[in-house]
Amino acid sequence: MGLSSNLDHKVQLIHRQIADFQDDKKSLFASSSFQTHSLPMLHILGRSVADLPVYFIQTGFHFPETLAFRDKVAKEFDLTLKNIESHVPKSQQRNAQGNLYFTSDPDYCCFLNKTQPMQPLLAQFDVWVNGVRADQNANRKNLNSIENTPQGGMRYHPMLDWSRKEIWEYITEMNLPRYPLDNQGYMSIGCEPCTLKPTLGEERDGRWLGQSKTECGLHTELVSK
Ligand code: SF4
Repeated sequence: MGLSSNLDHKVQLIHRQIADFQDDKKSLFASSSFQTHSLPMLHILGRSVADLPVYFIQTGFHFPETLAFRDKVAKEFDLTLKNIESHVPKSQQRNAQGNLYFTSDPDYCCFLNKTQPMQPLLAQFDVWVNGVRADQNANRKNLNSIENTPQGGMRYHPMLDWSRKEIWEYITEMNLPRYPLDNQGYMSIGCEPCTLKPTLGEERDGRWLGQSKTECGLHTELVSK
């Protein structure tokens, strides 16, 4: 059947924006959490930019299924996968009681394991491509498709105006692989200690469930205010 004309148009816009960055000699990298809603962006980028580095932030707390899916998708889409991790060893990520920080201070845990490892990349490249969508939460709703970073570069959000329905349309039409935990009721997957199955049917309900926290910092602290 193929993509609807509306979705095909959105795909063409992404190719065009990437080409514009390349015409301007911008260096690009992407980041991804390698879950279901990551797939269309990774598939489009894989077809649009040869050898684009795609970074995965290896927190050390992911579901094993995520790591296996990351490797499968990277191979199938012929991605240049790069893993980054915190330079702070887990032995130094413990509170006074000896428990890992995610048990008492998830913001600091996210800073050490997600935000801080990403910072050098923002100084190294001109454009950071990531797959946030406006329909995921209130913070993301306020983002623009291109934003500046505190390091003087740019963020490009090619999926910002895609709906969850369109994500699934693309996955279905392109016959993309399925993330194994989708079948178990998860809708958004992060680190295992901070991810539960959603209770209200909203995509990111299960992330940091029961806390006011909705973001890890990548899409709040690493956007120029
Ligand atoms: S999502 Fe949870 S485990 Fe992962 S870095 Fe943040 S606080 Fe730590």
